[in-house]
Amino acid sequence: MSGKNTQKKWYSWYFEFNLLYRILIGLVLGVVLGLVFKEKILWVQPFGDLFVRLLKMIMMPIILSTLIVGASSVSPANLGKVGIRVIIFYLLTSAVAVVIGLVMGAIFHPSAELASLAEAAGREAKAPTLAQTLLNIVPTSVASVIVNETILAVIFFALVFGLGLSYLRVAKDERLKKAGDVIYTFFDGLAEVIMLIIKGIMQYAPFGVLALVSVVFATNGPKVIGSLGIVTAACFIGYAIHIIVVYCGMVKFAGKLSIKRFFKDAKDPFITAFVTRSSNGTLPVTMEAADNLGVHKDVYSFSLPLGATINMDGTAIYQGVCATFIALSVWGHGFSLSQMGIIIITATLASIGTAGVPGAGAIMLLLVLDSVGLPVVAGTAVAGAYAMILGIDALLDMGRTALNVLGDLSCTTVVAKSMKELDMAKWEKQAV
Ligand code: ASP
Repeated sequence: MSGKNTQKKWYSWYFEFNLLYRILIGLVLGVVLGLVFKEKILWVQPFGDLFVRLLKMIMMPIILSTLIVGASSVSPANLGKVGIRVIIFYLLTSAVAVVIGLVMGAIFHPSAELASLAEAAGREAKAPTLAQTLLNIVPTSVASVIVNETILAVIFFALVFGLGLSYLRVAKDERLKKAGDVIYTFFDGLAEVIMLIIKGIMQYAPFGVLALVSVVFATNGPKVIGSLGIVTAACFIGYAIHIIVVYCGMVKFAGKLSIKRFFKDAKDPFITAFVTRSSNGTLPVTMEAADNLGVHKDVYSFSLPLGATINMDGTAIYQGVCATFIALSVWGHGFSLSQMGIIIITATLASIGTAGVPGAGAIMLLLVLDSVGLPVVAGTAVAGAYAMILGIDALLDMGRTALNVLGDLSCTTVVAKSMKELDMAKWEKQAV
């Protein structure tokens, strides 16, 4: 596919050049062109709109395929005591992470004040009551929630379907087992195809970001630059708080273990995740660290791959901060309490569907935005603000991936300790 043996074309350099740098260059060029050419650059808008439409196109297939595959990969047999504990830890820490993200957003108040595009923005959702919101998670018609892009209901259906499928796949009846495997293979294949499509779409991202950002700067001027710095600071401070309060707190108080000893081995996967920006890619290093920490293989061989797929605390913080940034930039005000409730639920569930690969969290941010009435629609301020975030995604992704991996390892260690599956000899010798 990569055509390594074929002759180099004049455009080959483009695909060989690191995508992160290309997107960053797109962002910087967009800023410069927007500021220099002002309204004369507005003709590029359709190129930005094209990028937004491509992203929206893959949103539904991505939720359905990745969530169904994710949920059905947990075999019911493994869902024993350890499994349930690990999953509860994973979900709780993710929910706390979203709250930290929202609080960081509220404190730092990052806003690009995209006033001139504001009326074209996505319609603000009429805040439904919490009971109504919760009830609406259970769809009455699966087809209609897919067509109407009712995100939470689709997520709910995908999880239930995936769970059902996981039982089918281990059925004693050969016919059922075979049917389960066929359906699993279908969705697994679908997820892989979507991943390929995303890779393709991201090749266009530098141009899409350039076009979207230049329009934002052409219509708003230079005042929006500082807001990106504030978004970055809010995310990273949120990441740091989560490490100190949640992970260190968990290791010290729930696990009654030495934080220093924990980080002695945890720093390797932490750094690897930071540079690779992929929880999946870091998995071998995380497993090695768990082994060195004395976690029994039965525990980590289940909990770490599961964590790399469903536990994304850093991504959850990032979504809380970025959703707040986009709301403040577009609406001029933050979220109501019930909208925050929706974000906590959506971002926690969306983190289950986020693949542990670079940049996946930015795609899942689309879902979170959609759920609170901020759909990324071509030509709106939401799309402009989203593109600004995408321009600095590489930096935000480094921090959030490092956190994602640290979350997997700390939950695994604490659960192992609580189940007496931790080799304490490895702690006593080296503990300070
Ligand atoms: N890169 C992250 C990870 O692999 C996912 C994300 O983009 O948020 O954990």
